[in-house]
Amino acid sequence: MTDTTIFDKILAREIPADIVYEDELLLAFKDIAPKAPVHYLIIPKQRIATLNDANPADQALLGHMMLTAAQLAHKAGIAEDGYRVQMNVNKGGGQVVYHIHLHMFGGRQLDA
Ligand code: AMP
Repeated sequence: MTDTTIFDKILAREIPADIVYEDELLLAFKDIAPKAPVHYLIIPKQRIATLNDANPADQALLGHMMLTAAQLAHKAGIAEDGYRVQMNVNKGGGQVVYHIHLHMFGGRQLDA
C-alpha cells in the first residue's frame, strides 16, 4: 500500500472540498486550482496510486469513472460544446497526487 494522500483526507472529510458528486465507489469535487471554468476531479474511494497499479479487477471502476465524467459534463452544461478528460500518470505525466483521478475540464476552448 502506498502512502496516503490529500485525497484520502478529502474522502474522510478531514479537509473540505467542493463536492459535486458521490456514490458508493467515487467522489468528484472541484479542482482547487482550476485550469478551466469547469474543472472537476473524479476519484475512486479505493486508493490506487497510479494507472500502472490498476489491474483487470479495476476495469469496471475505471469505466465508471469515465462515464461519471461524461455525466458531470452534461450536468455542468458543457457536454455539447466539449470538454477534456485526462489522467496523469507518474512524474513524467504530470501526476502530483498519487491516488488516481480523472480531470474533467471545459467551459472554454481548449487547445487541440
Ligand atoms: P495531478 O497533477 O494529475 O496529480 O493533479 C492533482 C490535482 O489535484 C491538481 O490539479 C490540484 O490542483 C488538485 N488538488 C490538490 N489539492 C487539492 C484539494 N485540496 N482540493 C481540490 N483539488 C486539489
